[in-house]
Amino acid sequence: MKKESLLGADSADLERKFAQIGLTKLDAKRVLPWIHVKCVSSFDLMTDMPHKIRLLLPEYFSLERPLCRNLQKSSDGTLKALLEFPDGHQIETVFIPDEKRNTVCLSTQVGCAMGCKFCNTGRQSFVRNLSCAEIMAQVFFWKDMLPMLKELSHPHLSNLVFMGMGEPLLNAENLFQALELLLDTKKHNFSRNKITVSTSGIATNDLQQMAKFGIKLAISLHTANDAKRSELMPINGKYNIDALLNAAQEYLKRSNTEHVTFEYLLLAGINDSDADARQLAKLLSGIRCKVNLIIFNSWSGSTFSGSSRMRADAFLSLLLAKGIRTVIRKSRGSDISAACGQLKGAGEFIAPRIS
Ligand code: SAH
Ligand code: SF4
Repeated sequence: MKKESLLGADSADLERKFAQIGLTKLDAKRVLPWIHVKCVSSFDLMTDMPHKIRLLLPEYFSLERPLCRNLQKSSDGTLKALLEFPDGHQIETVFIPDEKRNTVCLSTQVGCAMGCKFCNTGRQSFVRNLSCAEIMAQVFFWKDMLPMLKELSHPHLSNLVFMGMGEPLLNAENLFQALELLLDTKKHNFSRNKITVSTSGIATNDLQQMAKFGIKLAISLHTANDAKRSELMPINGKYNIDALLNAAQEYLKRSNTEHVTFEYLLLAGINDSDADARQLAKLLSGIRCKVNLIIFNSWSGSTFSGSSRMRADAFLSLLLAKGIRTVIRKSRGSDISAACGQLKGAGEFIAPRIS
């Protein structure tokens, strides 16, 4: 019998599942913090639970983490893990340590259906959504790893970005369940302003529903020109730039967040001219926003190249001069293909190399 993972269970789930095997609501209440606060990976470690229950639970349920098929460490300390689920499907998740914070980048789907031309994940076809348990499993995986990462300036996860493989808002139900667990002060207790969901532009009701969590929104804009955006990102045919900006304004209102972030990939000769920067500044004027400029991370077989540092600086200066808060985002982990848009979800096995 396939054991059901409890990594994505909230209290109602747990009570329901426990009732089916004759356990009480109180049992569920006592087990929940072992799963989501102490984050144990075995029922045997739930030391205040009766021995009988500790023996019964593993017959039906599991707290197993996904198999780590590959773990790579970048020269800048970024770690990328290739995780495999019991059905054999694989995803990548990234850990980005910093002096002030440790950020985890999470995947929400195996593959991606959006087909953005510049993205390595987008070249793969869509396979399936990750369940809430599989999204959470990535957080558990990195929490388990923390004690082994001796060089960290502080041994906890502070920030989460949903910027891995897949389009989060096309897996909204499972994403929202995971957000509930992550934000709950009696569970994983992440601050709402330390969680960011990035969307390629799914301007639907699900986006507005997400506003109730009060988390940060990032929108992959990449150009202020509709024709160019449709070339680069097929989703623009469905929700164009106007629709996206209206959705962003509405999200700001509903979520009460301070700003929305627009991600802007700098592609040499495509969207990085002074005229592109002026058009962007005009488009965003009056919106409470920040712009993150990202220099394109190349991957084997891609036909694009990243803008030069000089061009990126000129683009940045132009936006700043127009009063748009802008930074050039530092790319992390690009030597191990862990940077934005480089995740692929399959690779040769390389034995873990953690120092
Ligand atoms: N699917 C979501 C989130 C994951 S992608 C989205 O598209 O927003 C995270 C960010 O990386 C997005 O802004 C995406 O456009 C960007 N990205 C994709 N390919 C890239 C590449 N090759 N180099 C740099 N950034 C890239
Ligand atoms: Fe999917 Fe985001 Fe890549 Fe586009 S950029 S293909 S939405 S992962």
